[in-house]
Amino acid sequence: MSPTAQAVAERRPAYLTELARGTEHFHEPRRPDCPWCGSTKLRTRLRTTDLLQHKPGTFTVDQCRSCGHSFQNPRLTPEGLNFYYRDFYDGLHADRAERISGAQNSTKRHQGCAHAMFRHLEPESWLDVGTGHGHFPAVAKEVLPYTAFDGLDIGDGVEEARRAGRVEEAHRGFLTELAPQLAGRYDAMSMFHYLEHSLDPREELKAARRVLRPGGHLMIELPDPESRYAKLLGKWWVSYFQPQHLHFIPLANLRTELAALGYTVVAVDRREPHVPLDLTAACTLLLGHYLPDADDPWRTKVPSGLQRRLRQALMYASVPASVAAHAADRALAPLVSRTGFSNAYRVIARRNPDPS
Ligand SMILES: [Zn+2]
Repeated sequence: MSPTAQAVAERRPAYLTELARGTEHFHEPRRPDCPWCGSTKLRTRLRTTDLLQHKPGTFTVDQCRSCGHSFQNPRLTPEGLNFYYRDFYDGLHADRAERISGAQNSTKRHQGCAHAMFRHLEPESWLDVGTGHGHFPAVAKEVLPYTAFDGLDIGDGVEEARRAGRVEEAHRGFLTELAPQLAGRYDAMSMFHYLEHSLDPREELKAARRVLRPGGHLMIELPDPESRYAKLLGKWWVSYFQPQHLHFIPLANLRTELAALGYTVVAVDRREPHVPLDLTAACTLLLGHYLPDADDPWRTKVPSGLQRRLRQALMYASVPASVAAHAADRALAPLVSRTGFSNAYRVIARRNPDPS
């Protein structure tokens, strides 16, 4: 048995025990109102399955007709989140996460973010929230050699990042819980593709304000729910990222919220944060959906030899389509932001002094 097949076999009993109760208990009750503005005028924006890992379950994204906020509804419970995140970023299939989100982690992108901050200040101390394995700080400190980078995350990647020297200090836990002990410690903070995963983005922004010094800057990058790719690709738009993305915040809502919480927005960018992967990722998701099942621990049956060989053959056969999609993504990249197709935006906000 290969090491992967062995790992799958070891994980299977625990997964199947959890799934014996179905997947309903992974969801909270459906909420009747918008978590952003309280309006009860909701519409169903998307219904999908788990196209990332193909675990059982269905997920719905609702959109508020009053303020435009979109959100997973019903939302996953903490147990549900734990179930669907398992073996994604760490463990068994971490390589799949790399394939899908790897483009977000390119060195050039990280350098661009560090330069964007440097246009406003040269921070002494920078906290990267949701740092994962510390890829961003590792690159950013080459651009900003006098800045001390720390990382915060719930996973053990952040501790590994400290041991590897990618961050100086590792804070493990939730920002909302760690904020009191970190109050006023940083003059820069970043949240790259982080808020959409959080239970309550507004609480995260409040916590960030507490952790920042007056005059400190917060950099946020988020998927743009108003991207025309969302309409064009529907559930194959990778930024929907179900079931992990809980909130989709339109830029105007984020700006209003930041102002209300005591920040001044100093920069907005819809061009640089675009990750040219929409068509390539849609291909990957489609392929993953229609190929014969992989050997996954949440499936009761181990695939037969024939199924494995067929899967392998179809994967090779699909390479030209993926290569074409990748080329199209790259060729279109300079155009997308001018035509409403950019898939992400960036906001830099300065923390205002406290009212005296
Ligand atoms: Zn609303």
